[in-house]
Amino acid sequence: MSKYWSKTAKRIRPYIPGEQPKDRKYIKLNTNENPYPPSANAINAIKLAACDTLRLYPDPSGDALRDTIARYIRLKMGNVFIGNGSDELLAFSFPAFFEPEGPPVLFAEITYSFYPVYAEFFNIPYRLIGVDDEFNVSAEDYFQENGGIIIANPNAPTGKGLSLTDIRKILEKNKDQVVIIDEAYIDFGGKSAACLIDDYSNLLVIRTLSKSHSLAGLRVGYALGSEELIEGMIRVKDSINSYTVDRLAQAGALAAIQDDAYFQETRSKIIRTRERVSAKLKDFGFLVIPSEANFVFISSPQYPGRILFQRLRDEGILVRYFDKPKIDNFLRVTIGTDEEMDCFLEIIGLICGKT
Ligand code: PMP
Repeated sequence: MSKYWSKTAKRIRPYIPGEQPKDRKYIKLNTNENPYPPSANAINAIKLAACDTLRLYPDPSGDALRDTIARYIRLKMGNVFIGNGSDELLAFSFPAFFEPEGPPVLFAEITYSFYPVYAEFFNIPYRLIGVDDEFNVSAEDYFQENGGIIIANPNAPTGKGLSLTDIRKILEKNKDQVVIIDEAYIDFGGKSAACLIDDYSNLLVIRTLSKSHSLAGLRVGYALGSEELIEGMIRVKDSINSYTVDRLAQAGALAAIQDDAYFQETRSKIIRTRERVSAKLKDFGFLVIPSEANFVFISSPQYPGRILFQRLRDEGILVRYFDKPKIDNFLRVTIGTDEEMDCFLEIIGLICGKT
């Protein structure tokens, strides 16, 4: 603590991102990055933008990128907002749609751990909603008084998906509140709620190019919603920083979205690898939560999660361990290339005496 810090700076509890190690070379399966490179078209577009236009500020509303996204999703440009990764979109949505006074914002007890960080930062009350023993979210639990709802679909770190029928029920019962569906991992198997935007003016869908488009380093995400919600996001952005998405990011993201063939190829590869790895881990006796994401959430009957995490780390494999009630015996393992996952399976098999 410093005497120079504001009360806010003293009070907040910042999010701790997954490790980006520098001490040695790891097989890095800890932050849900895509193991494949971005589209070559995206890289070329970034190079071109870097040569031509860096002297100039970017388009503050990113209309060319918004238009490309709108066409891709079959919505209007007025339904699209772009941001510096979906984390920034989530951060903007708290002051845009939630109130410090009044009923709490609801989100699951096991979900993306950035949500409570934003809530505390913006002084927004929140209530954690339980999940069942298999990490299922129940729509009925969200039929209670609230000041807004956030649901990650598929959920993180479990990978469990929620059906569009359940999402529709939640939207239907909460027409006066904003319901945010965080679709960071939707391209790996889930059903997007974007098709419900014309029916529900209270729905905000947040997506990212970090995972399925291999662009975690570029920091681009987008929000989809009714024009009134998008205007709310624009008001907040333009009160903080007009130029959140830089020229390179706008150019690269646009080209990546247009290269649909490459996107389809890499996401199918990841899904195939995920299914193969899940089956093998089950053969080894692991509990594997069915995943719709680019990671699997697993638990060993033999080894406590913390020990297995450390043993893998010692062998040069980095996965994510959460020291939290209900999930402290689980590991979240990002799906890498087939070669990386073969190595992971070999080592975890050796540790568990399965090969
Ligand atoms: N939502 C969820 C559920 C996530 O796991 C992540 C990645 N940490 C994000 C949002 C943020 O992703 P990004 O800011 O890279 O778009």
